[in-house]
Amino acid sequence: MRIEYDYDTCIGMFQCVAEWDAFQEDKDAGKAILEGSEEVEEDLFVREVPEGAELDAKFAARACPVEAITVYDDDGEQLVP
Ligand code: SF4
Repeated sequence: MRIEYDYDTCIGMFQCVAEWDAFQEDKDAGKAILEGSEEVEEDLFVREVPEGAELDAKFAARACPVEAITVYDDDGEQLVP
């Protein structure tokens, strides 16, 4: 499972932070940070979701009010939102 986080879209509501601890608050920037991710293109951060964190990652994606977080399965199919 893979998670993508669009930094530019994020408006710093921090619901994702409450759902999965890979998301951290950057209060100064008013943005979330996705720990362990790689910036694959400008403002697009990607990482694998480790085993056991799948539900948390999906909840984080569901909780985001601006759909800045997207979760894909291993075949590249979009699961959430
Ligand atoms: S829930 Fe969405 S808008 Fe809020 S901090 Fe997380 S990514 Fe940003």
